[in-house]
Parts: sequence; C-alpha cells; structure tokens
Amino acid sequence: MNSRIEQIAGSNNFTAVNFGKLNQVLENADGKIFLKEATKTTGMEISISVLSPRTDLSIFHSHKQNEETYIALSRKGKFQVDDQCFDISEGSVIRVAPDGLRGMTNSSNEQMVYVVIQAKENSLEQYTMEDGVIQEATPLWK
Ligand code: ZN
Repeated sequence: MNSRIEQIAGSNNFTAVNFGKLNQVLENADGKIFLKEATKTTGMEISISVLSPRTDLSIFHSHKQNEETYIALSRKGKFQVDDQCFDISEGSVIRVAPDGLRGMTNSSNEQMVYVVIQAKENSLEQYTMEDGVIQEATPLWK
C-alpha cells in the first residue's frame, strides 16, 4: 500500500514525490514503500523500508532476473546471502545477484532504515559521466 505517497511536482521529464515521515513507512503492511509506480521509473524499482527493532525480515527470497542493492541507512543488523552471514550497519551496501538467497535482521533496539534498488542484472550499459551530458541552464531557485 502506497497511499501516503504524494506527488509534489512533475512533467514529461520528471516525477517528484514525497513519502512522508519514516514512521509512516512502518505503518504499511510490510514496513516498506515501493516507488516505481509513484515515480514512474522504467529501469528499476526502489523501495524504502523500516525494520522494527529486534526483527527479522520475514521472508528469504531470490529473484528471477533482477539484482538488488541494499543500502543500510541506520542501525546494525545481520545480512545473509546463501551460506554467508555478516554484520551490517549504517553505510553498508550489499549487491545481491538474482540467484542469491537473501535475508536480514535488525539486531539493534531501534528501527533500521534501508533502501533497496532492484534492476535487471547486466542491463546497465553506461553510467555516471559516460551517460551524463553537461548543458547550460538557468537556475530557477534564485
Ligand atoms: Zn527482493
């Protein structure tokens, strides 16, 4: 359920939304907000998740074709991929191939916030300044 996502601006070239306070994310059924539909992304799914204190992510899973990158923004926990389990904390970034069987737990006494970016494995053909084009523009915020 993504009922709290509010579009704040947009055009043919962009979509800007606000999903509100992180505490509101936790009120969703699985403590997660998916942003693909709200932001109209075409090459990735992005989710923001809040994991309650001392809570396991409820399901281990793999994927059919998408890799996932987990970015931990707060707290400490453990992340498991296949037969390896390791500590994660604020700043940990974990990329998991589609076949990797993954799960995680928040072992801290406070909410853990993390972002997951899901995209088709091997689909990225160019990135950063290979894909960027520097152009002249007038800042409208002045
Ligand atoms: Zn997944």
